[in-house]
Amino acid sequence: MPKTPDHILILAQAPAKPAVGAPCNGCGVCCLLEPCPLGVVLSGTSQGRCQVLRWDARALIYRCGAITKSREVLAQRLPHWLRWAAPPLASVLAVLAVRWVAAGKGCDCDAELEPTAGTDVSA
Ligand code: SF4
Ligand code: SF4
Repeated sequence: MPKTPDHILILAQAPAKPAVGAPCNGCGVCCLLEPCPLGVVLSGTSQGRCQVLRWDARALIYRCGAITKSREVLAQRLPHWLRWAAPPLASVLAVLAVRWVAAGKGCDCDAELEPTAGTDVSA
């Protein structure tokens, strides 16, 4: 079973994690702690921050790159010989990702955070 990290880095501009069940606000905590099942496939590991998590500097929130940057993510994560397939597969990934990651639902992350120094937050 993957070990949940006891320490993660979060950008200071990110919104605070809401309570479980509240609307997702893009705080990024869940994806910084460990990848979801889709993130495991795309990251190639079940531990550490999801490799396809992206920071939206305009909205000041984290976003799932499988949904918002699907073409870029596929171009980076597909094996070299399959990169030609990134454009045609991008819209498929985006649609599937919305379903797989339960985007738009309430927060289901029960991590309890304890700010330490600067942008560090313990979990
Ligand atoms: S599901 Fe919860 S922890 Fe994950 S980004 Fe949304 S609000 Fe943050
Ligand atoms: S929701 Fe997206 S960014 Fe978050 S862990 Fe899953 S695949 Fe990665």
